[in-house]
Amino acid sequence: MTAELIPAKVITSYGSHGVVRTESGILLECRYRRKIGRPFCGDNILIRANYTAAEASLEKILPRKSSFYRGDAQLHKHAVAANLEQIVIVVSPWPEPPVHLIDRYLVAVEYLQLRALLVLNKADLFDKYPTASAQLQSQLGYLQSLGYPTLETACKGAPGTTQLEHQLQDKCSILVGLSGVGKSSLINSILPEKEIQTRAVSEATRKGTHTTTATTLYSLPVGGEIIDSPGVWEFGLWQMPGVDIERGFIDFDELRDNCRFSNCLHSHEPSCAVKQAVEAAQLPTSRYESYLQMLELFSTE
Ligand code: GDP
Ligand code: ZN
Repeated sequence: MTAELIPAKVITSYGSHGVVRTESGILLECRYRRKIGRPFCGDNILIRANYTAAEASLEKILPRKSSFYRGDAQLHKHAVAANLEQIVIVVSPWPEPPVHLIDRYLVAVEYLQLRALLVLNKADLFDKYPTASAQLQSQLGYLQSLGYPTLETACKGAPGTTQLEHQLQDKCSILVGLSGVGKSSLINSILPEKEIQTRAVSEATRKGTHTTTATTLYSLPVGGEIIDSPGVWEFGLWQMPGVDIERGFIDFDELRDNCRFSNCLHSHEPSCAVKQAVEAAQLPTSRYESYLQMLELFSTE
């Protein structure tokens, strides 16, 4: 092992070990140590390296800029990645997302204090599914007016994925969405080297295996990174205090100060500015319904 500490990044992480990449691009299998803790995919760490044996030991986990969680069946949260900057929410006209899914994802994005990018994929199928497409375009149009960047893509034909590539450049992103909306297809189109990188990770593990379901960090040819975590956020999120759910609806920001009660949760309280905005059609009913449903399903109170 080298005497000096070397900076590296966690590419994939298992229980007691992982694969890490040094700044010069060398992949090493890294053993964790109980007293230092367990790092996640995307963590910046310090290691001691044995280049001849292609192995390393974890010496320090550097401070995280962000943590990314998944929810389990009991709605508890578990960290799966570190230092993500952008969550790409992928939807398509077929399969169509359940009504409240996008709003729910946005609450999680706000909770994690990350940037959201909304992607409507399968633009080539708009003609085939006119009702679902128009509904999604209108929903995304409203969210764009709130400041969330949105774009349309197609893995097959126009408009392609060039704009998405620009949005991913020089950032660390993750794609979330229902199964079948085209996440793998989008990743394959912007990351033609995915298989090569996967193979390199497999070779760096002692047993020469790497499951395709393991959360893994890939480097993009345009600069930046994609963390692929198959199935993540496909079903549920996690429980959080009602006030965090409330903060996740950024269109409430300019309303909540006008509610009679400073701790108004906009459900049964009188003189509520959010309810008045819904009645005056200034706030879409669907957003308010998403909110009430989340309070009921995901609030810890
Ligand atoms: P994932 O489950 O979200 O990773 O979705 P996949 O990438 O596996 O895609 C599911 C199906 O949708 C596959 O049959 C893809 O070929 C298809 N698909 C993906 N993107 C597009 C697209 O832009 N247009 C059309 N027509 N089909 C697509
Ligand atoms: Zn209120």
